[in-house]
Amino acid sequence: MSITNLRKMFLENAKHSGWIEVICGSMFSGKTEELIRRLKRANFAHQRVQIFKPAIDVRYSEENVVSHDKTAIQSIAVDSSQNVLLYATDVDVVGIDEVQFFDEGIVDVCTILANRGIRVICAGLDMDYLAKPFGPVPALLAKAEFVTKVHAICVRCGQPAQYSHRLPSITDANKDKQVLLGEQDKYEPLCRHCFNQALKAEGRKEDILE
Ligand code: ZN
Repeated sequence: MSITNLRKMFLENAKHSGWIEVICGSMFSGKTEELIRRLKRANFAHQRVQIFKPAIDVRYSEENVVSHDKTAIQSIAVDSSQNVLLYATDVDVVGIDEVQFFDEGIVDVCTILANRGIRVICAGLDMDYLAKPFGPVPALLAKAEFVTKVHAICVRCGQPAQYSHRLPSITDANKDKQVLLGEQDKYEPLCRHCFNQALKAEGRKEDILE
């Protein structure tokens, strides 16, 4: 990668052209940590940073984007993608955490912001617990200039993991939800092999493509 591209990627010069970056992966893969790392660097470069997250995500704090290692930065919780557009004024960099929970309109919102010269960094789950593409994330991945897929570690074999396996102890009442918020202990990161083994053990053969 050229120096110019590296500069663009980590971006200390966001004023003249915008773009979209997506950080995706399973639970426990460090998506939010990577988002925060990039936003902090933008801060160091004296850029104006604004962070959004869906109002649905109230696990730790109304005010902060908090990663699981307790690193926090201030954020605005919004209940629709249009509100991101409304509040993203006088900024150079917009961060959006848990982007999978936004409505499909978030794709156009990110595009509009990038077209205005803003660097947009989205972080979110690319797949749900059944390994189905999650909400607006697939479209965002297609529209983004830069895509980073981060991995957790498979708790069963130690290989890189890309699946958020829901532990079978989940009660029937919650089974339909795509991801249960704030229920970190209800999931485990698994690699492809171990994920398929787990689904087989649970009698979910219809969810495995063979
Ligand atoms: Zn594994």
